[in-house]
Amino acid sequence: MTSERHASYYRDFDNLYVGGRFIESTTSEIVEVDDSFTEATFATIPRGSPDDVPLAVQAAREAFDGWSSLGVETRVRYLVAICEQIQERTEELAEVISREVGMPIGLSKKIQVGLAIADIENSIKAIQQENLCEVVGNSKVFKEPIGVVAAITPWNYPLHQIMAKIGPALASGCTVVVKPASEAPLSAAILAEIVHSCRLPGGVFNLIFGPGADVGRALVGDPCVDMVSFTGSTRAGRDIGTVASQGVKRVVLELGGKSANVFLPDGDIDRFVPAALNGAFLNSGQTCSALTRLVVPKDRADEIELKLRLEVRKFSLGSPFEKGVRVGPLVSSQQQGRVRSYIDSALEEGARLVCGGTGQPPDFPKGYFIEPTILADVTPKMRVAQEEVFGPVLSVLTYESEEEALEIANDTIYGLAGAVWSEDADRATKFALRMRAGQVDINGATYNPLAPFGGYKQSGNGRELGKYGLAEYFELKALQT
Ligand code: NDP
Repeated sequence: MTSERHASYYRDFDNLYVGGRFIESTTSEIVEVDDSFTEATFATIPRGSPDDVPLAVQAAREAFDGWSSLGVETRVRYLVAICEQIQERTEELAEVISREVGMPIGLSKKIQVGLAIADIENSIKAIQQENLCEVVGNSKVFKEPIGVVAAITPWNYPLHQIMAKIGPALASGCTVVVKPASEAPLSAAILAEIVHSCRLPGGVFNLIFGPGADVGRALVGDPCVDMVSFTGSTRAGRDIGTVASQGVKRVVLELGGKSANVFLPDGDIDRFVPAALNGAFLNSGQTCSALTRLVVPKDRADEIELKLRLEVRKFSLGSPFEKGVRVGPLVSSQQQGRVRSYIDSALEEGARLVCGGTGQPPDFPKGYFIEPTILADVTPKMRVAQEEVFGPVLSVLTYESEEEALEIANDTIYGLAGAVWSEDADRATKFALRMRAGQVDINGATYNPLAPFGGYKQSGNGRELGKYGLAEYFELKALQT
């Protein structure tokens, strides 16, 4: 390894994890994982192959009977052990995710790893509180684990998205095959080491690598997979739905968003502005529930723009490992290119650049950066107002009546999240209830990891997290007496 090509932190992960063993992939090709700030390779993983899929699925299938017939408390003991080890390895997990995805390290510890821990703890609570057998008339209704679950995850919150799936899956008695995104696979590789050292029965948790286009598709189509839980783009979600429908599999899809943050005329502007920037720029905007469209009263737009312009200066750009940095690079040069093309298209369609833009920041000749970008004069039909950008790009749209604000908020194919601001709690709640979205925050309320997470419309099907997420992993069986 030459020092120029490779970062100071370097690790090769040579194996898949199948049937309780670290095994070689059926192909010897590898994939290099880049540090998003230095652009140097800092780890490798096996490239993976569709031929790995049946091995992993078979291992999960064989483990299912044993795992599902263990008592809840025994399964919970394994989950507690996994949770403890994630906690112990927080520094390492946060570091690899910050290198992959670009999130500042302090936030990585708190959010990337912290949420993963919360996911598993909440799955434990949910299964302990779940009533697994209910009497309804002359029936006893049992909740049984659905079987083998394929968990296909993206790169933006890589460990959290895995734990949000395998926490409830393992708690309910399912066995899993995880395929992480090729761009951010390392926390999954470390998770396999954790699972191994917790001595989970072989085959309960399996990890494979590989591109979605061949390995991911083969996993979705494998006849021994009972359920697919996917987080990622709506494009991939559509394809997964099509492939899975051939086997009439259950599919839970957590897809894209284009969420509106609506400021009603009586909102508190001083609280709104910093929260609006946070809601759009967290994790450099690489967040499915990012509040990427500000919908503001036309006669307050200038005032809001001025405040945004001043406040955005606090969003300092830089290395994820430098103190005080709030916005790191994006995950990859491909993502940087995609985000640039959205900014260009907005400007071509008549939007006005308030700050940021497509240029490489002068202080950082390397790193997949996009400066925090605010676009004014955005209109509802522009591409940037309709499509998921997944970068630090905030669009400001204006309205003249509350009805128009609602129309704009609901006018996309997505319905993942939203927000509304008003000093009148009733007014805010009424507005929130008319937004076609799975989650709506009122006046900057904080994220709740126990609340159902998922979308209306083309933002997905099904829900994740807490007791709502757990419910997706059950089949219902009614016995009549
Ligand atoms: P994808 O949706 O393509 O990838 C997400 C995961 O699905 C990855 O593990 C990927 O594998 C896998 N995958 C992709 N296609 C298929 C398929 N047909 N069958 C099975 N598995 C598949 O996201 P991208 O990384 O390409 O990002 C593109 C855009 O998607 C982003 O710009 C953003 O807009 C959106 N996105 C949304 C996310 C969200 O949480 N809503 C998360 C990530 C992206 P691999 O990457 O290894 O090929």
